[in-house]
Amino acid sequence: MRTEGLSINLATVRQQFDLKSGIAAYVKQGVRGISPWRDHVQAIGAAEAGRILRDNGMRVTGYCRGGLFPAADAAGRQAAIDDNLKMIDEAAAIGADCIVLIGGGLPKGSRDIAGARRMFADGMAAILPAARAAKVPLAIEALHPMYAADRGCISTLAEALDLAEALGEGTGVVVDAYHLWWAPDLANQIARAKGRILAHHICDWLVPTKDLLLDRGMMGDGVIDLPAIRRMVESAGFTGYQEVEIFSAENWWKRPGDEVIRTCIERFNTVC
Ligand code: ZN
Repeated sequence: MRTEGLSINLATVRQQFDLKSGIAAYVKQGVRGISPWRDHVQAIGAAEAGRILRDNGMRVTGYCRGGLFPAADAAGRQAAIDDNLKMIDEAAAIGADCIVLIGGGLPKGSRDIAGARRMFADGMAAILPAARAAKVPLAIEALHPMYAADRGCISTLAEALDLAEALGEGTGVVVDAYHLWWAPDLANQIARAKGRILAHHICDWLVPTKDLLLDRGMMGDGVIDLPAIRRMVESAGFTGYQEVEIFSAENWWKRPGDEVIRTCIERFNTVC
């Protein structure tokens, strides 16, 4: 089966593999796209992680995840900026196509979501010069609005695009089917994203969804029209990888890692 154009976010098998064993398992089945998280890279150091990724010919379709700029005070906001600057260095060392930024939630006690969004925009502007210098694009990932309070105050592709358009060179967006599939204006917004799509994430929306964070479905097991979204993304000029990103505490994280990878390949070929 075809594995070209398929990336698997390492969170999909985070209970089964670390970076090194995950790469070995991917390579065994012909998968050459990967997106690691910071804990995967920091466990062995970015230089060593980069060496292993390069030695295995892996394409790093993203590095997860940064952003999360809103904080209750200036010291907290600066700490988030500093952490994102460190992430840019790590992303450069591992050769990532982009770093994935999510909005972050409301600071404790706050009811000011507009303020949280401003803090996100300010944080991005603060790290953008370093990202441009390192040639690491910043990819804004809008999250489903159910996460707006605690995780991602950027909820729509329209907002993400407004920001990317305002900030300009070195920024773009992630089109994640899980977060965006429900949006009535999705086709228009993806068309508007032409030239700014840095990553395309896929999984499925299960009915019912039993956990807000950790019950994402394997492609084909839910209600998202993945081929339709892929066509929109391709029409907008994105020719990169489709990246499977599944957090599934009670299902896929409990299965053998090789089976999860094999299933991703099968579904990539049949329902995406
Ligand atoms: Zn995603």
